[in-house]
Amino acid sequence: MHFGEIEVLPVHGGNFYLDGGAMFGVVPKPLWEKKTPADERNRIRLAANSLFVRAAGKNIVVETGNGTKWDSKLRNIYGIQEGDPLRDSLAQLGVAAEKVDMVINTHLHFDHAGGNTRVVDGRDVPTFPNAQYVVQRAELEHAMNPTERDRASYFADRFVPVSEAAQWRLVDGDVEIVPGISAVRIPGHNADIQAVKVCGGNRTMIFVADMLPTRHHLPLAWMPGYDLYPLQTLETKRKRIAEIVAQGWIVVFGHDPDFPAATLHDGNGKIEFEPVDLSK
Ligand SMILES: [Zn+2]
Repeated sequence: MHFGEIEVLPVHGGNFYLDGGAMFGVVPKPLWEKKTPADERNRIRLAANSLFVRAAGKNIVVETGNGTKWDSKLRNIYGIQEGDPLRDSLAQLGVAAEKVDMVINTHLHFDHAGGNTRVVDGRDVPTFPNAQYVVQRAELEHAMNPTERDRASYFADRFVPVSEAAQWRLVDGDVEIVPGISAVRIPGHNADIQAVKVCGGNRTMIFVADMLPTRHHLPLAWMPGYDLYPLQTLETKRKRIAEIVAQGWIVVFGHDPDFPAATLHDGNGKIEFEPVDLSK
């Protein structure tokens, strides 16, 4: 899909599964199960949604998905798709890793930054050797020293090699990253998660990652139990969803396996969604 001069295409960072209860927080299972059935291990099906963006002459990857570095135990727990779905998806667009100029991570949890690095000759190195990697400075600081409550979501080998290679471009707060593409802080899931907003040709899209993991998370109180600051999630969602509806923006969900992108509409107080195909 084009946003003026900017082109955005969906990219697949891999399928995986997470505990349904953890994904819906205080929402009782009989309610969420009607929307998204749990498997025999109480997990729900998810996708790591990524984007490829061509803007200002740069090839940009938003989110690197689950990556390839999974031992069999954790791969089984999270049902992580085999192979390298992100690389394959970029290859279908004719984009080799060396040609990527920029990577934007919304935050550094394993399902968003997992493909930031890969193993070459037994060493962890940045997957995209010529890319600048963009994240909030405070998110990288937090990832280096997470709490007992969220440390299971951070794997240091997914981001420390980027530091070692001096490939970070750390940003602070809401900033324009390249013309037409901005970081927008959306605190709640954690303190410094950022959305990625694309504006051009009278059209706007906002990738909100774990503010709305799936379309089933549109009701304000339907939020992951993983969120560190649930009351802040509530206010961030209230403000941002209203903005998306009022402005007619396209929203991209972090993990919806069926409809990565949609527009949102107010149907008598209930937010409804209409799928958008970004590949067109
Ligand atoms: Zn996530």
